[in-house]
Amino acid sequence: MQRLDQQFIDNQWVPSQGSRRLPVVNPYTEEAIAEVTAGDSADVEAAVNAARRALPAWRERSGAERGAFLDAFADALTARRDTLIRLSSTNNGKPLAEAGIDLDDAIACYRYYAEQARALDARQGQPVTLDVDDIDARCYFDPVGVVGLITPWNFPLVTSAWKLAPALAAGCTVVFKPSEVTPLPEQALAEIALEIGLPAGVFNLVHGDGEGVGAPLTAHRGIDKVSFTGSNRVGEAVMRAVADGSRNISLELGGKSPILVMEDVDIEQAADCVMAGLYFNAGQICSATSRLLVHETVADALYAALGERIDALQFGDPLAESTTMGPVTSARQRDAVNGYLAIAEQEGLNAMRDGGHRDLPEQGFFVAPTLFRDVPADSRLWREEIFGPVLCARSVESEEEAVELANDSDFGLAATVVSGDPQRARRIGRQLQAGSVWFNSEQLVPPQTAWGGFKRSGIGRELGPWGLAAYQEVKHLIGPA
Ligand code: NAD
Repeated sequence: MQRLDQQFIDNQWVPSQGSRRLPVVNPYTEEAIAEVTAGDSADVEAAVNAARRALPAWRERSGAERGAFLDAFADALTARRDTLIRLSSTNNGKPLAEAGIDLDDAIACYRYYAEQARALDARQGQPVTLDVDDIDARCYFDPVGVVGLITPWNFPLVTSAWKLAPALAAGCTVVFKPSEVTPLPEQALAEIALEIGLPAGVFNLVHGDGEGVGAPLTAHRGIDKVSFTGSNRVGEAVMRAVADGSRNISLELGGKSPILVMEDVDIEQAADCVMAGLYFNAGQICSATSRLLVHETVADALYAALGERIDALQFGDPLAESTTMGPVTSARQRDAVNGYLAIAEQEGLNAMRDGGHRDLPEQGFFVAPTLFRDVPADSRLWREEIFGPVLCARSVESEEEAVELANDSDFGLAATVVSGDPQRARRIGRQLQAGSVWFNSEQLVPPQTAWGGFKRSGIGRELGPWGLAAYQEVKHLIGPA
């Protein structure tokens, strides 16, 4: 069995000082496939010190030089494509095709920030237009410093790419903690750092859980900024930790995103959109469009089309080409989703599809794809993030009612509008409180567009120029012309 009991610090693999070990489980076989250290504050201390030592030289490099390293990351990920796809499927439970999409997204992100790093050189020292003649003002973008990056288990390689690529482009040095649930795919990032000759200390990878590494990392005063993706509960703890020392933070948290289906749709296309927005990755998507608001005149037709598609989902080994829905990633997540299904039973929700409608494989952390209709707006299933293949639906009488219900949420990460009229879809989209609004499509996240949420879905934006700005301090030099 693979043992991840070493930390990647200062371009060396060094034994973790942590004594606890955690199993890394294949969610399909339910067997431990590796063991990872839970980490220790001494590991964090060594990694932060390495990143601090590396910062002065790394920040002095030109954007073009840093961009070349990011291109090298993209090349090296591409060269490992098949291995990484299989590893993501095995560790996370996602079907191979989905793991392939993830990896391509990650590679596109490294390429995009390679470009952004190169473009940064020309942006440094640009004169600022003032309304007085005798003053010269110029604008510079300095790196924030040493950053702590913490990611969850649902999209390994992707959530880390969205942080690591812009942080390195900006000139920050990094201490990265992957999720202890899926540490295997991101192990490759350390191997790549060595292979491409990234200077020692620029990228440090520290394995561990929240207690062993997450909490000591966020509390460490040598960390200038924390960028965290994960749950609201932990995100708020991270925010409290970072408040100590008034340090910088970005948060990508939970969601309960709506999908609005208007009366003018093509039902088959609408059903495809709904499926892609929720049952992908077994529903473990922060931006899952898990609240369906459908116009009452097309509701029955849509439910029928969804029922057919749900029945056609193929459970099985994520490594089998025929599998279209794998297990959820951990026993803990399966139990959390089942907890919501128990609440649904208590609340008497109307299940059009659930575990009662089909057999699940005997092994693996599978959860039946579930569709509840006519879910009351005060149901816990309507309001809380479930993070599983559970779709809650309601019908609406009008566009106005759909918009009002869509915005009636603590979260605001994403939303989808499906309409036969793209102009109308855009107009409705402008009224929705969400960072990404898709129309007649689902879950498209090009690296050039921003990612992040309104309300409790987070603070700040990743991707696009905003993702780079998150790792920069803006500085002006001002004096007599
Ligand atoms: P989680 O909050 O349990 O864990 C996230 C990370 O934080 C893990 O690496 C974990 O080890 C670490 N951690 C745990 N305790 C910590 C502490 N006290 N201090 C610092 N770090 C600590 O989340 P999860 O279960 O891994 O992921 C699911 C959640 O992530 C969902 O809520 C989902 O919506 C969210 N998510 C959001 C986005 C987004 O872009 N907004 C993307 C993916 C996932």
